[in-house]
Order: sequence, then C-alpha cells, then structure tokens
Amino acid sequence: MPTVENEENKVECPIDGCDATTAARGLHMHVYHTDDPEDEGHYPRYEVPPNFEAKKAEVIGEETVEYDYPDHVDIEDTEYLDTYTGKVYQGKRGLMIHLGQMAGKHNIPSDIKEKHEADDFPIVTTDSDGNIEEVIRDPRGSVPPIEPYLPWSDDDELGYVSKKHIKETIEEIQETTTGVISAEKLEQKLLG
Ligand SMILES: [Zn+2]
Repeated sequence: MPTVENEENKVECPIDGCDATTAARGLHMHVYHTDDPEDEGHYPRYEVPPNFEAKKAEVIGEETVEYDYPDHVDIEDTEYLDTYTGKVYQGKRGLMIHLGQMAGKHNIPSDIKEKHEADDFPIVTTDSDGNIEEVIRDPRGSVPPIEPYLPWSDDDELGYVSKKHIKETIEEIQETTTGVISAEKLEQKLLG
C-alpha cells in the first residue's frame, strides 16, 4: 500500500473536562468512541453530546499524519459503501455486481460503470447493526457524499437525516394497520 503524508490540523477536544488532542479529521471518532457513563462532558460511548460542535475545536497546531492509503484495495472482506443507496457491500466485486444490477434504478445513474470505479467509493467498517463505525477511506471524484450515512453526523450539524432512520420510519409506517400516517406525524418521526 502506498503511504501518503498529510499536514493536518491538530485540535483540542472542545468537550468540558477533556484535554485530548487529535487530528481534526479524527475528532468525531474521538467523541463518538469516548465513553463517559456519567455524561459529564463526554457522553457514553457511541453518543455525541447534543451541544458538540466540531468547528468550535481549537486548532493548536499541525501534525504530519501518515496513512497507508488503500489505493487499490481488493480484499474481499473490505466493506464498500455505495453512497447512492447507503448500502454496504463486501469487497470490490460485491460492490460492482450491485452497481451493475442497479444501474438506472433508484438514484443510481445508468452510466454508473463509465462514471465511477470501485475505488471511488468509500471504504468503511460497520458494527453488527450495520452502522458505520469508521471511515477508512473517503469517497473520491463525483460519487455522492458519505455524510448522510455517518451515525455521528446529526441533523443540527449538517442538516441530514440518516437513510437508516428514514428506512426504519418507512418500515414502522408499513407495520401500522392502515400503512398510512399523517404528514404531521411523519414530520415528528423524521425531524423529532
Ligand atoms: Zn474528548
């Protein structure tokens, strides 16, 4: 794997009582993974305090970050996120088979195979519920952004509602007696 060196901002965690420093791009992961069961400053693991704002973090310097940049990963257990549909596929082959089958359907462009290669799509790790835990490689080129699918990007921060939440809401509605709910209720369910 080629190694890439990057100068990146180093920030101090803005959460009260925490003086951790991290590369700016790692701040969300730090907050998401730090466990403070007492909710003092940090929240329990996998919870982000509601008033947390990454952009409030103070930049305290720069550091050189080295990545083993997985430029042409082809290991079949690597998880690729299709940012058109929010689904994760095992391996480059799994992703490409899916993209071929879905071309022209849902949001997927019919010329998807000319437009993108597998390496343009982000590589992620997921937990047993299918939530993204870590972004190993960001999307490249013109594939849709990854943010809507990140469990730690909340509505306040980026204005996204996660696809997972939308899907769960649809399933909930399908399970009601009539399969129909009012716009008001839908708004409540989606936007809280
Ligand atoms: Zn912290």
